[in-house]
Amino acid sequence: MNSYRTHTCDALRPADVGSDVTLVGWVDTVRDHGGVIFIDLRDRAGKTQVVFHPENNAALAAEAESLRVESVIQVSGKVVHRLKTDEVDATNPDLATGEIEVEATSMNVLNRAAVLPFQLDRNISNEDIRMKYRFLDLRRPNMQRNMILRHRITKAMRDYLDEQSFLEIETPILSKSTPEGARDFLVPSRLAPGCFYALPQAPQQYKQLLMVAGMERYFQVARCFRDEDLRADRQPEFTQIDIEASFITPEDVYKWIEEMLQRVFKESVGRDISIPFPRMTWHDAMDQYGSDKPERRFDMKLTDCSDIFATSDFRVFSGAIANGGVVKAINAKNFSPSVGQIDSLTQTAVEAGAKGLAYIKVRDVNERDGWKSPITKRLTDAEIDALKQRLNIESGDCIFFAAGPWEESCTILGRVRLECAEYMELLKGNTDVDLFWVTRFPLFGWDAEEQRFCAIHHPFTRPVPEDVDKVLRGEISTDLCAEAYDIIFNGNELGGGSIRIHEKDLQDATFRALGLDDATIQEQFGHILSAFSFGAPPHGGLALGLDRVVMLIAGCDSIREVMAFPKNNRGADLMSESPAPAEPNQLRDIHIQVKLPEKLRQKLEAEKAAAAEQQA
Ligand code: ASP
Repeated sequence: MNSYRTHTCDALRPADVGSDVTLVGWVDTVRDHGGVIFIDLRDRAGKTQVVFHPENNAALAAEAESLRVESVIQVSGKVVHRLKTDEVDATNPDLATGEIEVEATSMNVLNRAAVLPFQLDRNISNEDIRMKYRFLDLRRPNMQRNMILRHRITKAMRDYLDEQSFLEIETPILSKSTPEGARDFLVPSRLAPGCFYALPQAPQQYKQLLMVAGMERYFQVARCFRDEDLRADRQPEFTQIDIEASFITPEDVYKWIEEMLQRVFKESVGRDISIPFPRMTWHDAMDQYGSDKPERRFDMKLTDCSDIFATSDFRVFSGAIANGGVVKAINAKNFSPSVGQIDSLTQTAVEAGAKGLAYIKVRDVNERDGWKSPITKRLTDAEIDALKQRLNIESGDCIFFAAGPWEESCTILGRVRLECAEYMELLKGNTDVDLFWVTRFPLFGWDAEEQRFCAIHHPFTRPVPEDVDKVLRGEISTDLCAEAYDIIFNGNELGGGSIRIHEKDLQDATFRALGLDDATIQEQFGHILSAFSFGAPPHGGLALGLDRVVMLIAGCDSIREVMAFPKNNRGADLMSESPAPAEPNQLRDIHIQVKLPEKLRQKLEAEKAAAAEQQA
């Protein structure tokens, strides 16, 4: 193959018996069977067993035996059949090369490994140590598989988009702040003292400017940066497959993404998925599942019970309705939650904005006494009866309620629904793929803290045609709809996008609706408004979270498993130890002085000392 090796470690077969070969790779295992030394030699492609017979070359066998696992060696030798007689079968059917072995005649140790910080063939629960030695962690078969899968998926996407005449164009990393709803990472400029670049939260404005520039179809495997508190599955930098095209409607986007994902599934894991994907409006998603990214692989839908309780004595319910709200319920079939589970569900509801969580455990559906709940004594027989019909309640079920404003009640119950499903193990062993679109998102939300409207997607998103004039006239409300769409995969948002505004006056009106004044609009978005006054084509697009796509197809539960060098949940890279303090002369060059509040400085010092002590 080249001057290092004649074959990779997955290549040799019985047909090669008798040939002289040279392999390179890592020592996966060393075994001593009565003086005969066996090494499993591993490269990215696979493994080959190498055998050292002391009677042929005692010194070589001794050297092989002395090797630590994960050392890198080059071995030359002859391919032989593994022993297979009536009494002994040394072949390994689990290994592609399992019928042969290489009898070593010479060996070149290219790099001796030190004692490993962890064993590569074990599951390691301590993620910090995996991250510190990520270069070792990545050698493990799962991680190799994930990296290969990621490559396959990205390649399938690139191939598809290329066939559809998309151009791959890179956009700047040192750029200007673009609002995607997170905090920017800032980079100080040396040449413009006191000024900063922002790392892109997404290439949103650049891709729109590429449309104004006449590129018509653009994509990029784009790195995005968002300085967020790292919740469960976020990373400060992550990758999007970012797409934008001119002269299109949402139908074009749906078709491209559906065909592209179909191809991705086929080429990465050989799975057939059917297209087109179903669609559901945001309103229905919220109303039925209490989420804008519904998990639809189990039912337990939210059911409206407002009419049942409109005049109820139970004021929590009737009061909510009187205030223009709703009473919604879910029926967790055949679920008898423990006290601990009820506590945790209540906590979940409270975190989502509820005051508490009303529930009924139905022991015996036909006995009034069989409806176990602090609230049942407040309900009439008629109400209980209506509830029973509406929710198809049987003995053994558990009913949960939310009462209040519609969106809030849906959200509360949506979270309770997901948690119940976990306890009930409704998705255990489920391998279904549920891919669908959520459409017709609201254009604006109301930011109660800042007392102003905010963009639900981003401020470049177009209203649906029937709401364009309202935005132009400044009739802003949370009822306006966006021409925006998200793609959902098994309850996860894979990505989203929209048709954009391409007219200066509509963009201007949207910025105004968001409470931006003239000076801010000009300072932050002057370039895009200027572009829109020189012949901007109608355009739209979408971005898919690549890390999440790979994670879900790989069946992993964290995007860290499909990123080569992720950060931990404090945003740190434990391997290279970044972020790290800068040298004084570096700071001087960029006119920056670091001034930590005294309390924070002391806290950090104490943490550092504690960490050092722990290491010692
Ligand atoms: N830039 C958007 C995002 O990152 C996606 C899009 O609208 O195309 O969510």
